[in-house]
Amino acid sequence: MTQTLSDLFANNRAWADEIEGRQPGFFTKLLHQQTPQYLWIGCADSRVPANELVGLLPGDLFVHRNVANVVVPTDLNCLSVLQYAVDQLRVRHIMVVGHSRCGGVMAALGNLRVGLVDNWLRHVQDVRDRHRALLDGLSADRRVDALCELNVLEQARNVCRTTIVEDAWKRGQEVVVHGWVYGLHNGLLEDLSITASGPDGVEPAYEAALAALHRRFGDG
Ligand SMILES: [Zn+2]
Repeated sequence: MTQTLSDLFANNRAWADEIEGRQPGFFTKLLHQQTPQYLWIGCADSRVPANELVGLLPGDLFVHRNVANVVVPTDLNCLSVLQYAVDQLRVRHIMVVGHSRCGGVMAALGNLRVGLVDNWLRHVQDVRDRHRALLDGLSADRRVDALCELNVLEQARNVCRTTIVEDAWKRGQEVVVHGWVYGLHNGLLEDLSITASGPDGVEPAYEAALAALHRRFGDG
């Protein structure tokens, strides 16, 4: 569906009017504070609109998105969002959210040359190579979706291993890390059950979620 830029401004006015009509003073209240409970780390894909698909309004969800929802400890952009969300906003939950048929994951899987992003997707190829034994036994379609989910598990574990989350847990701050996957075909989120609320829970949660993934994709 093609919309002109003036359509976008018209849509925006209608959206703001609708929210303000339901909750008078909504936007002026947000001027003074944001107290989101959640940090969403997701893919940049236009088909995965974070706020909309969980029904949250402005002010409820702090968001970081990049190609293939990658979390690496050399990415100052992602780390800055994470640090601000944990230390300043004190979010209670951090969710890494991948999605089925992720273009970034497909490119990584097939060694496609797209451009600069190929370098970024090396991180997903590291995930692919680590789980080669499972992936090689699957059909092409299943392999993509399996790598989408494996990537969520690895990136969620990477969140847990940042100094930011480690330090938060060390000082007793309650923050829970999750890994979810969104189905492009049905619009539904699925919890991959890599749920960690402290340093001792990370590896057991990762191992259990990985075992469940292996069962789901038919490998024992
Ligand atoms: Zn994607």
